[in-house]
Amino acid sequence: MYFNETHEAFRASVKRFVDREINPNMEAWEAEGVPLHELFRKMGDLGFLGIRYDPRWGGQGLDYWFETVFIEELGHVWGWGLPVAIMVQTNMATPAIDMFGSDFLKERYLKPAIAGEKVAAIAVTEPGAGSDVAALSTRAVRDGDAYVINGSKTFITNGCQADFLTLLARTSNDPGHHSYGLFVVPTDLHGFSVSKKLDKVGLRSSDTAELFFDNVRVPAVNLIGNEREGFIYQMQQFQHERFTILPITYIACRDIIDMTVTYIKQRIVFGKPLSTKQVLRHRLVEWLAEIESLRHLTYHVVRMKTAGLDATREISMGKLLAAQLLNKVASGCLQMFGGMGFMNETLISRHFRDTRVMSIAGGADEVMKDIVARMEGF
Ligand SMILES: Cc1cc2nc3c(=O)[nH]c(=O)nc-3n(C[C@H](O)[C@H](O)[C@H](O)COP(=O)(O)OP(=O)(O)OC[C@H]3O[C@@H](n4cnc5c(N)ncnc54)[C@H](O)[C@@H]3O)c2cc1C
Repeated sequence: MYFNETHEAFRASVKRFVDREINPNMEAWEAEGVPLHELFRKMGDLGFLGIRYDPRWGGQGLDYWFETVFIEELGHVWGWGLPVAIMVQTNMATPAIDMFGSDFLKERYLKPAIAGEKVAAIAVTEPGAGSDVAALSTRAVRDGDAYVINGSKTFITNGCQADFLTLLARTSNDPGHHSYGLFVVPTDLHGFSVSKKLDKVGLRSSDTAELFFDNVRVPAVNLIGNEREGFIYQMQQFQHERFTILPITYIACRDIIDMTVTYIKQRIVFGKPLSTKQVLRHRLVEWLAEIESLRHLTYHVVRMKTAGLDATREISMGKLLAAQLLNKVASGCLQMFGGMGFMNETLISRHFRDTRVMSIAGGADEVMKDIVARMEGF
């Protein structure tokens, strides 16, 4: 109903990649981390990293439905660390370069990111500024033909392997949102360092870093757009980021439920399969109903985006629903697995660990509620 034959052919090629190149390696990557350069090269060759981007920079020039197909298929990955690392590359660190960057930045950074030759990261969060992005204190001060950057960033996905960062920094002391610049910062510049690789509860296949900037001279041409509009650009870039959690969630939740049903059908408790317990069957159906609702909200968002409409309200609602659904399904299904669910050898335990962060990262549930409340006028 929503996807045509071309979309389905594309879906088959992403599915093949997930089945052959990703899932068989997930166990090892959970232990050692993903070699992003190697994997992204392969994905770049297949055109997976620039689905919507202009063919001039190596993109496929396709629509939001193709992007949705791609993200849906990432929902079948056996863990969330790698999909998050991929979506940082495609939907979190590069949309602003595509939307507001110069041809120089597109040639130098977007094109190799699409080809999988350069790994990207998005550097917004700081030790003193997470939900309240405007509280960030990393500074970029103009000095001749460069900006000098001082400060630190934390919780940065792909931070240990990134070749460049899309970084938000304060460019003025004026109050309000027009005091920030968004920069493309190569990580081979003098004064940049990965101060710490962070040890996380979940998403163990992706690396997360604390970064330090000590008088890093970034060429002025690496500023995205206007030096006062970075905050506004980042708010728009967040919409591409937050959208990703919608398709990946309804697919992954369905997979989690399917694997749980397989388990409870064969698990005998009090002389009967667990699946005969009405309370469990009803619980699963309630979640399926929510999964279907989220899927259709997502397709509504895709239609809005395709029509050029602002979907901030619907994406914020969707991100909130998705995160809450994930937490509910991952935790509730682990409960149905009993003790086996708590064992690392059972995939549900990884989903449980990995999905917890979805109510925090990319804008916490409470931040999504604040956005919608503001837009509703209360
Ligand atoms: C695994 C991981 C990967 C990440 N990757 C990146 C990345 O690549 N790049 C990047 O820039 N950042 C990244 N982040 C940072 C992430 O976006 C922030 O953690 C998130 O925005 C929350 O900020 P904080 O952790 O500082 O929490 P805080 O801002 O300190 O908030 C703490 C809690 O307070 C509550 N809260 C917040 N605001 C409100 C409110 N208005 N009303 C009521 N309650 C509220 C929320 O429950 C929130 O969880 C990542 C984080 C994690 C954990």
